[in-house]
Amino acid sequence: MSIVYMDNNATTAVAPEVFEAMTPYLTEKYGNPSSMYTFGGQVGAALRQARSQVAELIGAHPDEVVFTSCGTEADNTAIRSALQVNPAKRHLVTTRVEHPAVLNLCTALEKQGYLVTYLSVDSRGMIDLDELRYALRDDTAIVSIMHANNETGTLFPIEEAGAIVKERGILFHVDAVQAVGKIPLDMQSSTIDMLALSGHKLHAPKGVGALFVRRGTPYRPFMVGGHQEKSRRGGTENVASIVALGAACALSGAHLVEEDTRVRALRDRLEHGLMRAAPDARLNGHPLHRLPNTTNISFEYVEGESILLLLNRFGICASSGSACTSGSLEPSHVLRAMGVPYTAAHGSVRFSLSRYNNQDEVDYIIDKLPPVIHRLREISPFGRQPRA
Ligand code: PLP
Repeated sequence: MSIVYMDNNATTAVAPEVFEAMTPYLTEKYGNPSSMYTFGGQVGAALRQARSQVAELIGAHPDEVVFTSCGTEADNTAIRSALQVNPAKRHLVTTRVEHPAVLNLCTALEKQGYLVTYLSVDSRGMIDLDELRYALRDDTAIVSIMHANNETGTLFPIEEAGAIVKERGILFHVDAVQAVGKIPLDMQSSTIDMLALSGHKLHAPKGVGALFVRRGTPYRPFMVGGHQEKSRRGGTENVASIVALGAACALSGAHLVEEDTRVRALRDRLEHGLMRAAPDARLNGHPLHRLPNTTNISFEYVEGESILLLLNRFGICASSGSACTSGSLEPSHVLRAMGVPYTAAHGSVRFSLSRYNNQDEVDYIIDKLPPVIHRLREISPFGRQPRA
């Protein structure tokens, strides 16, 4: 049975061109980029090229790119750095719908005595800029908000938020792990001070990421060690993966238009097809301000994990908005923050597409999913309560 993979917000396939670009650095070109001889020097040149490729995709200068081990490290670095450069400032602002890379760090910081304001979102997953404005204080060290939500794809108004934050002279970090490679970004004209991205969301391997740090931004390293990354991140560089990240960024840049046209059209076809075929289905997330590849649909009165298990039998890979923790199914914190009713939050399924998907796959899901919902509703513990 072949696989229909629509879980690209979880992770992506490594692009064949990316694999080809990185393999020499796992085999014959294994020198340390910091060494003096030519054998290592050629590796240093590959790192420089990768840095330029990452910078180019986000409209930054190459020296503003710091390679990290993942998006989580980039987020942690940005937030911890802001707190270290401003030790007297003990307040942070973030949102209730961030990824655990930010939320769990905030929880840990609260235990150390920091104060965190969590901005709420409306039913479409959108923040309120007035709430942001009123949350800012004289002792706010950093505002950290995501660009695109990983579960719903909702896009925050980053530049409007940044203008409010910068007016108060506060550091502004953006978790753009889901946005980079899917929508155009330009740091040159942006208010963002620091921005996190991750390789495995854009067809590079897992275990590599980067932090954009605007020139002149006060900064302290998270990983302290050797002088790699101009002393901004200690540790011998993961050369092959960094080369892969560079190649993946170059490819993503070349496919941005396709992402906004062909991938968006496939996503819309899937969304409309499923909403039409399955009664009591509702869209989670902003209908317009949303990533072009993501749709999150709730099928009321059934459990998302049961849907996934049955879809798995057809080789369909997607995600659910509930996670099985300690034996009970907890609806996602994102859907709860949006006020999605319990019966709908439990039955949510996220499909996240990539440029490797095609219309046959979309139609296959439109064919297979509605009978699955029908079957589950017949045995649902909630009991089907059709709308009047
Ligand atoms: N931030 C967001 C919005 C994400 O979706 C993810 C991963 O799913 C991360 C951060 C963490 O990235 P990584 O898996 O590279 O640590």
